Amino acid sequence: MSDPRRRIPPVDQLLDSPALEALIEEWGRLRVTAALRAIQARLRTDLDGSATAPERLEDPGWYAERAEEHLRMAARPSLRSVINATGVVLHTNLGRAPLAEAAWRAAVQASGYAALEIDLESGGRGSRHDHCVDLLRELTGAEAALVVNNNAAAVVLAVNTLAAGMEVVVSRGELVEIGGSFRVPEIIERSGGTLREVGATNRTHPGDYEAALGPRTGAILRVHRSNFRVEGFTAEVSTPDLARIARDAGVPLVNDAGSGLLLDLEPFGIEGEPTARQALEEGADVVTMSGDKLLGGPQAGILLGSAALVDRLRANPLSRALRPDKLTLAALAATLDLYRDPERARRAIPVLGMLTASPEGLRNRADTLAAALRQRGAEAMVAEGLSAVGGGALPGVELATTLVLIDPGRAGAEATARRLRLGEPAVVVRVRDDRLVVDPRTVQVREEEDLVAAVAAAVGAAGAGPT
Ligand SMILES: *Cc1c(COP(=O)(O)O)cnc(C)c1O
Repeated sequence: MSDPRRRIPPVDQLLDSPALEALIEEWGRLRVTAALRAIQARLRTDLDGSATAPERLEDPGWYAERAEEHLRMAARPSLRSVINATGVVLHTNLGRAPLAEAAWRAAVQASGYAALEIDLESGGRGSRHDHCVDLLRELTGAEAALVVNNNAAAVVLAVNTLAAGMEVVVSRGELVEIGGSFRVPEIIERSGGTLREVGATNRTHPGDYEAALGPRTGAILRVHRSNFRVEGFTAEVSTPDLARIARDAGVPLVNDAGSGLLLDLEPFGIEGEPTARQALEEGADVVTMSGDKLLGGPQAGILLGSAALVDRLRANPLSRALRPDKLTLAALAATLDLYRDPERARRAIPVLGMLTASPEGLRNRADTLAAALRQRGAEAMVAEGLSAVGGGALPGVELATTLVLIDPGRAGAEATARRLRLGEPAVVVRVRDDRLVVDPRTVQVREEEDLVAAVAAAVGAAGAGPT
């Protein structure tokens, strides 16, 4: 049998063929040439004669189709939207919280000229910080608030404002690293403070704090354990007790609360994270949190505290370097506005809807997805499983779900998962025991049809259409 590779026509011959004319017109000769070279190189390495019918190898029309697809794929933005079928709600690598529709609409609205720093009533100067402040005050009970780029920036600003050149007292049990290289000791040093560690990894007592406080103390920092838990022989000073110690010594207490929870999720069986209001009520002078974790908004850092302290934070020149842009502020304000009606918030903010989705609802969706996949010839079954909150929030909380397990076909699970990631739309799934695993929790209902089509095509199911 002759080598099918010999049937591949030279690139120059293809370029001169009428079948390629329209493509060259649209994309230019250079790019089409590069695409044809790439396609042929892949053919030569992949080709064992079985994947592609040999007569196609001589057909310029077939190359035109492949080249067009290649060019279209290559022209896609690298930061493109993804269907998250992993079940990890706050998936840091997938951009943490998906925005509520009201939030992205607000960001689009603000993307032209917008009333960012103008008082439309008087025509005079306004402040970008005002857009979210009233809502934050209403929703958290804080006297004042400031928004920056992310929670890391909020901690930097708090430490730098309150404790530059001074000591920051932190329990050794809270010298943590939280996703994306946020390390408490390094953040404190880079913010101009000097770390003063107290207590031990598993146990810190009131006396440990008291002994460390003195004229060199700038602040006490409490850091919420957002991504791990300590169990066993442990002791820590409660935040109300710590607030009392701080008050008696006349030093500010900064509480890095982390996740920005605004709604009590205990009725849904999700415990262990304080709401922003609770964190303030426990007596911290400044509470910091993220906008894109449990709050479910855009990437942002939020500082809450007294008017006097927030004025100092705002007056720090660093706040100019850490300020958020108008798209963030618009999306955050719209997200916060949804919280004014908690039931609406739960419906409209995807993170809250995903976290509080009922096990029965998830089972129904998994059944429906599995049936749709089987209908397209894929082998799919459902099984009980767990979703993760992810993204540095609610460590140890496991959410019961129903998973769809899919036979990946001949290519195997890893190769098929890669194919799904590179597809249109991009789909990210879990892989377990050589099965593709889809968790409906993080798949939005409007994405289900695309998901089924993509998975069926990727596993090469019969009737799934060309891949
Ligand atoms: C997530 C987290 C941070 C970092 O927040 P970013 O918004 O990602 O910068 C800092 N501290 C705590 C306690 C966190 O949970």
